Amino acid sequence: MSSVEHLYVHIPFCDGKCVYCGFYSVTADARTRSLYATSPARELQAIVESGIEDIYPRTLYVGGGTPSLLGCDGLTALFSSIRNTVPLDRLEEATVEVNPADSTPLLFQTLRGLGVTRISLGAQSFSDNTLRRIGRRHNAQQIRESIRHARAAGFPDVGIDLIAGLPSVTMQEWHATIEEALSLSLQHISVYALSVEPGSALAQSQERFSIPADDAMLDALSCAEEALSNAGFTRYEISNYALPGFECRHNLAVWHGEDYLGLGPAAASRIKQFRWTNARDTDAYLEQWKEGNAGKCPPDNREELSPQEDAIERVIFLLRLAEGIDWKRDINCNPLLQEIAPRWEKILTSLVPHGIVRRTPQGYTLTKRGREVCDAVLAELS
Ligand code: SF4
Repeated sequence: MSSVEHLYVHIPFCDGKCVYCGFYSVTADARTRSLYATSPARELQAIVESGIEDIYPRTLYVGGGTPSLLGCDGLTALFSSIRNTVPLDRLEEATVEVNPADSTPLLFQTLRGLGVTRISLGAQSFSDNTLRRIGRRHNAQQIRESIRHARAAGFPDVGIDLIAGLPSVTMQEWHATIEEALSLSLQHISVYALSVEPGSALAQSQERFSIPADDAMLDALSCAEEALSNAGFTRYEISNYALPGFECRHNLAVWHGEDYLGLGPAAASRIKQFRWTNARDTDAYLEQWKEGNAGKCPPDNREELSPQEDAIERVIFLLRLAEGIDWKRDINCNPLLQEIAPRWEKILTSLVPHGIVRRTPQGYTLTKRGREVCDAVLAELS
């Protein structure tokens, strides 16, 4: 039996709501957060016992929400309980997302001691005014200090997230944010384009915020690409830049169509031809996976994909990667791709004269213009 090698754990807690946020997160008291810490391992245990698949992680990604809100004790309990449930001796990469507002030297020392290799800080901007306007609970100085503490704790790989196109941010301010990010000796920088997510404060009262037009957004993304490329970063995925060798292996595995298991409320999983997403309900999750309760696994909403749907879903994100599609390699990994290859060839060939995709010796990649309209290209292919 093959193994599932990529594990994601969702920590659904935040101490407020950012105005652009469309993710699932809740506020909770310290007792609830502490109770939660060992619940993902009970869900994991049930999956192991159900025999769905052998779990032998090579990557572990703890995201949120705000994982650092679990604190040193909660994160220690989380890692210990997972370690007691599945073997972690083959782990090559363990990432934890940290909010600069919660970071202390002790937090980073604890994470390093737990075997964490990567820190991902939700920075978003280096302008205090902008951070306040978008409802973040940290300031620029806390980002700088977090990076310093992470380095002091011995982390070799520290990255930040930034958002392009935040309301009322001038090009000059955006440039200053990129310059400051580049001055901090980071290994990984994600640059997301602001999107108006359903249910977010931004979506509910757009008139209160000055959201940039498409052209301004594209300029901001181009400015980031130019500055980061000049500094030696590779744009290995549409929103992700890394110094060579510091690409996020967990996310690369997901984009390469490998199986992954997600634990926690709202976490998504894909194993063989099945996919499912846990309910967005932390209270129900806590009740389901509290000590002594045998939760139901796999969940009722497990969906079985047809072989063709499965093949498409496993390769569609390859176009988001700089490497693009390599027919020989990808058909070798996923023989069912052979069936959809002729349809894709036709669509991709038709996009070449428009400057949206480029033919390579192995297959296709997106051009600069193609990256700007990537979602439309992927919709065409799916
Ligand atoms: S910290 Fe992240 S998950 Fe939490 S509210 Fe902000 S954007 Fe959403």
